Amino acid sequence: MLETARRYRKRKESPVEETRRLLDAIKRDTLNSFITIDEQGALLSARSAEDLLDREDAGVLAGIPVAVKDNICTCGVRTTCASEILADFVPAYDATVVKKLKDQGAVILGKTNLDEFAMGSTTTTSCFGPTRNPWDPSRTPGGSSGGSAAAVAAMLCAGALGSDTGGSIRMPASFCGITGLKPTYGSVSRYGLVAFASSLDQIGPMAATARDAAVLFDAIKGHDPLDSTSALHDYAPTDLEGIDLRGVRIGVPEDFFGPGLNPEVESAVLSGIAELADMGAQVVDIRLPHVRYGVAVYYIVATAEASSNLARYDGVRYGMRAGESGGLRNMYLQTRSKGFGAEVKRRIMLGTYALSAGYYDAYYRKASQVRTLIADDFRAAFSLCDIIAGPTTPVTAFGLDEMVDDPLSIYLLDIYTIPANLAGLPALSIPCGFDSRGLPVGMQLMAPHFREDLLLGAGIAFQDRTGHHKVRP
Ligand code: GLN
Repeated sequence: MLETARRYRKRKESPVEETRRLLDAIKRDTLNSFITIDEQGALLSARSAEDLLDREDAGVLAGIPVAVKDNICTCGVRTTCASEILADFVPAYDATVVKKLKDQGAVILGKTNLDEFAMGSTTTTSCFGPTRNPWDPSRTPGGSSGGSAAAVAAMLCAGALGSDTGGSIRMPASFCGITGLKPTYGSVSRYGLVAFASSLDQIGPMAATARDAAVLFDAIKGHDPLDSTSALHDYAPTDLEGIDLRGVRIGVPEDFFGPGLNPEVESAVLSGIAELADMGAQVVDIRLPHVRYGVAVYYIVATAEASSNLARYDGVRYGMRAGESGGLRNMYLQTRSKGFGAEVKRRIMLGTYALSAGYYDAYYRKASQVRTLIADDFRAAFSLCDIIAGPTTPVTAFGLDEMVDDPLSIYLLDIYTIPANLAGLPALSIPCGFDSRGLPVGMQLMAPHFREDLLLGAGIAFQDRTGHHKVRP
């Protein structure tokens, strides 16, 4: 992204040329990373960016081609959530993040593939078919923001937006060898993000480098009166030079290195941590004793919120309608039976059950209590360290047909990413090496609320030193 901006400044290339080149590449894409290409809209913005670039005050995003996950509303461009139920839904407004990108001159190329309603870790539950991993097309790019991750890794866009409820930015970032940031809850507006689990959802940047991710994050963060959970906070802009790691305390939780962790992932992450130590960071052992309950807590809280959020798709207000002739009840039944896929139905049923009278206290209330204990673990840990480091996922990218019939095993892959969502903390995934098959491994860094500057600054410094992010598929 910064590289493209530099080329524009030197007049080596123009936004229209770059946009045309990428639109052509996207049309030839065999990874299925995009659901919708907005050719007209993209060329129109590229043309206005050419004028913008002649002005002194043009920002870095002027003419930069980006992709947007298809659960983020784009005015006049369909937003499907990869679901039959919204397959023809065309929003009448832009999400705040999209508006911000457009206002700063970015070119939106189109909408990227995802697991239906962002529920999943493989991008295989999309009604538009799975996205493939650019490192090995027989493998999953991870999910749910798999389309955005694959598009960035395959260099079909300069950067992308994803959403992360339990790991959906970080996991595909790690599987595709790119950088992904889940920001602090409340730091990026959720206005116009189709709600999955409102107390966990966050939009964030995905890019080839931590520097590019920082530029995108700086462009989209900030208070939004249209989102009541948006935080009032005075953000320091990220230092694109990176931070000096000398004296920074890196906490390594033993709880993130348990038996389920693939040994090759473990060794790549441990060498990443050793690299940070070589750069002067001080490594300290910490404990997060309650994170082991994270997956259980998440699949109660997230499904409960999803069952409530998805109640709005009833065939009346949005999207598709079926069974109209058989009366209202029948219409609800037919619309929701035909419109939702199996994973979404499973979550609605789980969530409805967890919230029902008689079970609420046993499941939802208990899960909320344990969620507080997890947040408390982090609070205690951050009195001993500045950044927490560990793996992003227990494994590297697996085959597209592996685990398809085993939702529980897939849920367990979220073990290291979920805690940051439950506690509302910012977390970054950066490439830290490769497994023996040559597939990328991600290292996760977590920081206290609103300390994205620390994460991105450390990520930049790490990438300048190691260059792992430069190895391309
Ligand atoms: N894999 C997790 C899930 O299926 C996370 C999804 C997300 O972050 N959107 O719920």
